[in-house]
Amino acid sequence: MSFESLGLSAEILRAVSEQGYSEPTPVQAESIPAILAGRDVLAGAQTGTGKTAGFTLPILQGLIGVPRQARPRTRVLILTPTRELAAQVHESVRSYAKYLDLKSSVIFGGVNINPQIRKLSQGVDILVATPGRLLDHVSRKTLDLSSVDCLVLDEADRMLDMGFVHDIRRIISLMPETRQNLMFSATYSKEIRKLADSFLNRPVNIAISTGNTAADGVTHVVHPVDKARKREMLSHMIGSNNWRQVLVFTRTKHGANRLARQMAMDGISTAAIHGNKSQGARTRALADFKRGEVRALVATDIAARGLDIEDLPHVVNYELPNVPEDYIHRIGRTGRAGQEGKAVSLVCIDEAELLGGIEKLMKKPLRREIIEGYEPDPSIKPSVKTANGRRSRNNRSGRSQPARNSSSRRGNGRRHSRRAA
Ligand code: AMP
Repeated sequence: MSFESLGLSAEILRAVSEQGYSEPTPVQAESIPAILAGRDVLAGAQTGTGKTAGFTLPILQGLIGVPRQARPRTRVLILTPTRELAAQVHESVRSYAKYLDLKSSVIFGGVNINPQIRKLSQGVDILVATPGRLLDHVSRKTLDLSSVDCLVLDEADRMLDMGFVHDIRRIISLMPETRQNLMFSATYSKEIRKLADSFLNRPVNIAISTGNTAADGVTHVVHPVDKARKREMLSHMIGSNNWRQVLVFTRTKHGANRLARQMAMDGISTAAIHGNKSQGARTRALADFKRGEVRALVATDIAARGLDIEDLPHVVNYELPNVPEDYIHRIGRTGRAGQEGKAVSLVCIDEAELLGGIEKLMKKPLRREIIEGYEPDPSIKPSVKTANGRRSRNNRSGRSQPARNSSSRRGNGRRHSRRAA
């Protein structure tokens, strides 16, 4: 199938070909005709499948030919869970609409609202927004949703995870009842189905991947290692394998900061990206990483949503995510659009259960590979979960408390981390 056969205008086809796309991805081949036909769509498509163009191209096509005076207010609203994804989707909208006379804008929190107000006052056809800032504009009466006739919920599962369900319902209540609705979600939970049932009208179901399968080109490997030696081993792996661009996931913001600091001390240029960082700092870190000036980017799950980094060769799970589906989201950054990618997980004894959950979701065991010099210490027992869900050390062996300076425990580890520098 070709883009030409989908009934898109010459201006859109030109922009698509400038992006270097030769043929539609599977999600595009299914979603574009359905959206052009005016249908509601429920698509199970994760990041990396080309879903953004899958909804943007037919939306642009639908707006062509409507004279400007007939569309003074916002016609299309694209909601995303994070600022990064909003910015990235808007970038895509701009590039695909390059040769069209359409106005688009993006609004999200964490930045000054006034430039957004000015932009909205000039009228935009397509608005990309995160829910909180969108409602802020609504309450200031700087945005009117009464003429929206197409709504896109992008990464709907993540929006629910982030607690946006009431905001979404409120936003929906501000729009005309008759409109086209498009919902994209990497995973399907009961809540997602409930939300879909509540506002989609006889949707076309598109299941490119169930969301619970990762891209084919990704190699998964698990390195069992003691918790206290993970950082040292990671610096060693980056250095000895000469990885130039690595996205590293931690569970917490604090953990991301600490790891970034320590890796920098190992001589690896590293930046952290998480929700406590200002928008400017996040954008800078991402730009430095993309340019290759920063070799490792340490991110939390939420901050990493929507990061558009093409052909990322390595994704490292420094800590496994609490929710198995997040493993799929994380590694969606590698093996994109048919490229080869490697998903590396550093797994300590406390994470055995989390690993089991991921393997169950993936419906296959992940290959284990012990790195020489970093063999797990068999005397370390799993820590026990306390009532508040935290873990405390089961100190029976007397050796399980990690040494403060773990690299002094095994000489070769120190050598490795120096080599990494
Ligand atoms: P998405 O799933 O929308 O985040 O897109 C993933 C990546 O695939 C983006 O970097 C797009 O630029 C790229 N992409 C989208 N459509 C195509 C296509 N038809 N052919 C090749 N790459 C594409």
